[in-house]
Formats: sequence, C-alpha cells, structure tokens
Amino acid sequence: MTPPALRGARLAPPTLPVPTRPLVTLDTPVQYLKGAGPALAARLRALGIERVGQLLFHLPLHYEDRRAFTPLAQLRDGGRALVRARIEHAQVRFAGRRSFQVSVRDEQDGWLLLRFFHFNAAQAAAFVAGRWVRAFGNVRAGRGGPEMIHPEYRVADVPEALPPEDALTPSYPLTAGLTQQRLRTLIAAALEVASGDAAFGAPLPGLEGPATLEALRVLHAPGSGEDAARILAGTHPAQQRLIDEELLAHQLCMRALRRRVRSHVALPVPGLAAALPDLEGRLGFRLTGAQRRVLIEVARDISRPAPMLRLVQGDVGSGKTVVAAGALLAAARAGLQGVLMAPTELLAEQHAQNLARWLEPLRAPVCLLKGALKRAQRRNALAAIVAGDAAVVVGTHAVLEEATRFSRLALVVIDEQHRFGVQQRLALRDKAPGGVTPHQLVMTATPIPRTLAQTLYADLDVSVIDELPPGRSPVTTVVIGAQRRDQVLARIGAACAEGRQAYWVCTLIEESEVLEAQAAEVAAQKLTAELPALRVGLVHGRLKPAEKEAQMQAFKRGELHVLVATTVIEVGVDVPNASIMVIENAERLGLSQLHQLRGRVGRGAVESQCVLLFQPPLSDLAKQRLDVLRQTQDGFAIAQKDLELRGPGELLGRRQTGDVG
Ligand code: ADP
Ligand code: MG
Repeated sequence: MTPPALRGARLAPPTLPVPTRPLVTLDTPVQYLKGAGPALAARLRALGIERVGQLLFHLPLHYEDRRAFTPLAQLRDGGRALVRARIEHAQVRFAGRRSFQVSVRDEQDGWLLLRFFHFNAAQAAAFVAGRWVRAFGNVRAGRGGPEMIHPEYRVADVPEALPPEDALTPSYPLTAGLTQQRLRTLIAAALEVASGDAAFGAPLPGLEGPATLEALRVLHAPGSGEDAARILAGTHPAQQRLIDEELLAHQLCMRALRRRVRSHVALPVPGLAAALPDLEGRLGFRLTGAQRRVLIEVARDISRPAPMLRLVQGDVGSGKTVVAAGALLAAARAGLQGVLMAPTELLAEQHAQNLARWLEPLRAPVCLLKGALKRAQRRNALAAIVAGDAAVVVGTHAVLEEATRFSRLALVVIDEQHRFGVQQRLALRDKAPGGVTPHQLVMTATPIPRTLAQTLYADLDVSVIDELPPGRSPVTTVVIGAQRRDQVLARIGAACAEGRQAYWVCTLIEESEVLEAQAAEVAAQKLTAELPALRVGLVHGRLKPAEKEAQMQAFKRGELHVLVATTVIEVGVDVPNASIMVIENAERLGLSQLHQLRGRVGRGAVESQCVLLFQPPLSDLAKQRLDVLRQTQDGFAIAQKDLELRGPGELLGRRQTGDVG
C-alpha cells in the first residue's frame, strides 16, 4: 500500500562520494548484495526493487501454513496442503501427455497421486517404493482420487527426516526467473544490512508495537513463537506497526506538499460571486443551494494570491460541472486562462459542448484539445492556447503533453480525480507561466468515507455538494440472474415503446480493452437479433473517436434505442431520456463503480431502472454487496459499505495508480 514515493523518501540516495568497492548499505543497488548480481538485479527491477532497502519492504503477499500434515483422506479439491506419505509406486506414463506419476499412501491409509510433467532422470530415480515424501501443493480431484501436480517436495528414507515446519512460510509476489527460496535468501541478507542501520533502530515516539526492524523481521521470517493466527489474520502487532508507519509517512508527505504549495504565488481571480447571475442566466436552471455554497467557497479561495487546493466531492449527478464552469468563467473574465481535464475523450467532448453553450455567449471562448485531432486542428488549438485566445481549454490527458503551453494559466480543474494519479495532478500544476502556481479544483464522484479522504487527500480542502438538483426521480434497482434475460429484454422493449432509451453495459474480469471491445461487439450483435424492432448502437474504447462520437450523438438525439457500451460510459455521460441501465456480470464490479454506472440513468423526470444481471451462482458476499445497491442511492453510504465489505483496496486500488482508460 505504500506509495513508491514514500519508500523512496526513506531511502534517499546518500550524498557521500561512492567508494570504488561500495560498502553495502540500504541505498546500495541490489546487484551488490551478497548472492545477487546484474542478472538477478534486472529481474528484481521488474518488482520495483532497485536498492537493498527496497527488498525489506517487499512484504509477503500471504503466508503458507506448513506446520501440520493433512491426512490424505482429508484433502479437499482446490485446497493447498502439506502431506507426508510413503511411496508405493512410481512410473512414467505415456497416456496423453508424458508424465511421471507417484502414488503414495500415508499412515492413516489415505492415498494420493503426485504428478510431474517436467522431470529429469535424477528426480525420478529418487522416488523409490518404500521411501517417504513430504509434499506441499495444490490439491485437485483426479480420476482415481486426489492429485497434486508439481508439488514442492523432499524425499527421505524415514518419515522422521521430513518434519513439518515450525513456523509460517512467507509467500512473496514473484517475477519470471525468481523463486520464493531465492527471494527469501536475498531478503534475509537485506535484513542483515538493516540491522546495522541506525534509522531502523531509532524509536519513533507515538508509534506502538515493535520497532521497524523487529516488525520487518517478524513478517519476513516469523519465528515459531509468534502468534501465527494473528499473522494469518493480518492483525499481528508487527503488521499493525508497519501500517501505522505508512499512514504516518503518507500524512507527513502530504502535509509537506501542502505547505510547500501554499507558500507559492497564484494569480488572484476576482469576480466569481459577481458572475453567478450571468452564469445562471445561461444555464436555464437555478443553482442548487449546495452548488451555490461550494461556488462561494471556491470564489473566496481563488480571489487570493495563494493557490487554491480544493476537492469537490459530490454524488453522481449532483452538478459538479456547473461549479467548474463558474470558476472557469471567472478566470476568463479576469483575462486569464483555465483548463479542465477529463479522463476520457467522451467526457472531454461533452464538457466542451456544455461549456461552449454556457460560456461562449458570455465571451469566454472554449477550446477542445484531445489526443485524436487532425494535425492542422491541433496546431491551431495549441496556437490559440499559447496566445491566450483560448480562455477555457478542455481536454483529456493530452493537455499534459509538453507541447501544450499556456500564456496565462491561472486555474486547473480536474474532473473525476479518482481516474488520475497524483502525478498527473502535479504535472498540470507545472503548466503555469514562470513562478506562478495555478489554483486547483479537483472534482470526484467516487465518494470516499471521511477518514479515508483525510488520508488520501490530506493536501486538499474539501467541499461537498450534498444535494441533487430538483426533479430527479429515483432509480429502482433490481438484481436478476442471467437465466432470466428474457424478462430483462421485455422491460427494455416496453420502455422503448414508450419513447425511452436503454444502456446495456458489458463488463470483463480481465483489464483488456481489446477483449472488452470484443465482448461488447458480441453483446450488441446478440441484442440486435433479440430485439429486432429496436435500433442498437455500440461504443467501446477501441472505436475511432469519430465513430464513438457519432454513436453517442445518435443516442443523444434519440435515433438509437439501446446503447451497448463498455465501462467507458462510467463517467459523466449525460442522456436524460435514457431510463434503463442493464449491467451484465454486475458481480464483477466494485460497488462504487456500479453506483457510477447507475448514475447514467435517473437524470430525467421519468422513473428509471437499473438491472444488475449476475451469472449464477452468486456467493453470499456478492449477494450482500449487490443488495447494498438495491437499498440505497447515497454514494457515500455505498462507499462506506464497500469499505466494510471489501477493504480500502477496492476504493483506492488501481484507480489511484493513475492509469487512465
Ligand atoms: P456530476 O456531478 O455527475 O458531474 P453533472 O454536472 O454532469 O453532474 O450534472 C448532471 C445533470 O444535472 C446535467 O444534465 C446538468 O445540466 C444538470 N444540472 C446540474 N445542476 C443543476 C441544477 N441546479 N438544476 C437542474 N439541473 C442541473
Ligand atoms: Mg461529472
């Protein structure tokens, strides 16, 4: 969980001149560690390990319990077990794939087959009938009984020579060409180096539990005296201690960052409060109380000569774009520039359209900058931006590129922050002209519980839009097994007959845009055949931007009844006439993501439905999770539940690493 930056901070390179034969310290490149070398160092780099000290924080993914033998009669299909048994018979079989098979029997007369597809003569020769084997591996149900394929094993003449382990065995994330055993040896060597490092021995006031070095020792090489149950449960004081340290380090880094940024100079943007009546005149609706309150908070921040650092949290559909529009308008009126960055082209285009409609009549020209512009268009856009003619720039991460230069950038708005990493946020900040830091407004619809927000966004002030615009009708959510697909199709048919539209969302377990696109194509073909009276469209991440745009526009204009989509439509897309959303394999997605998707419907006055289709059988936990969505539409409550049921990884995980879809 530690962000790499933190580990880097602790392991900052030494300023001393490097001697010709370096004394190994925690900062030494790992290739100089005893037992390592350049080839191994290259493999370790794949795990993000470059220096000796980083080995220490390569913590076990889990622990294997090899402290007791499982009787062969009690082996469970799919489990992992340690067994000890007498060799009855060993032979090479040629049926099907060539394999080496050893049948063994334990003291309680249980039976097991060990199978090897890769083996050499010496290995095979060790398995002599009457000798004993200790094996650890995955159990599966074979034709004649339980089997272990390629277990880790040892062979001996007597069972006493093959005792069980007396402590837990750590199991690490690996990479090609690296074994658990090798990694354990390296980590042991790194622990040796750490014991000579003063920083690891120094007490940290206020933190409980074993000191850092001791905690690391326990986790890498738990002794037989340690409380194994607590280690397995992740609640051992050594684990707790490292968690506390990470949180503390994270807080300190964020605070230092905040302090540094606050001391910077920003261009004051006055006049946002005064611009609100004009904005409201263009919007065609009245601001909600919450929007007005947040806009006033933003107005106060940006009128100062120090940078604003503000996070706007608001549930899906709460109207965050309007807050961005207000701030961008004020910047334009002050003769300055603002930029709005969105995570997908679809969303950037939609923002550009809305902002142009709202702001251009107020003399704030809007310019869209995206990855897929024609060369001449792109050149023109960049020229307008650097000349300062484009007061409001909207784009995807294309705005981060080196070539994008601003003349008077005063404000940066980042939409759907959870889709970007901290690094990208910082990169935009550096786009302002000499010595000036832009004001930053960060918007997120992934509501995260307060405690987590304070940790994650410790460098930001937080505003919350806790009110939805009036006139929204609630979304009814149902959870339905895929075997009742016919009923779902009937619902879609009925809604479309009444002039409504529907989304059909495909999900995949694998994070592959190609596979996801294929799945969506297949789903679209199937639906076209099943619903011959309806027009079915398709958007996914592999379509050319122009095609994507054409499909979206057709759907917006009501020319398509059903839009099949991948999760690209998760963020931002706004078509109020769509009143049904079907999510296939809903059990695969996180609750917050499902909530986001669901937010695409219920935007108009008509009663809307969200159908969560699942592939039976559904586990109890999965059922509980989907039930949460049936029971509430409050994004904050959903995030809290997600946190309780699945832990913070689900909420933060990949999304915080900054990979953009
Ligand atoms: P989100 O917070 O999810 O980004 P949007 O900014 O996309 O929400 O707004 C959702 C929809 O609500 C849009 O169609 C927007 O025009 C509309 N909207 C925003 N504010 C109001 C309001 N005060 N009254 C009525 N409709 C509003
Ligand atoms: Mg939005």
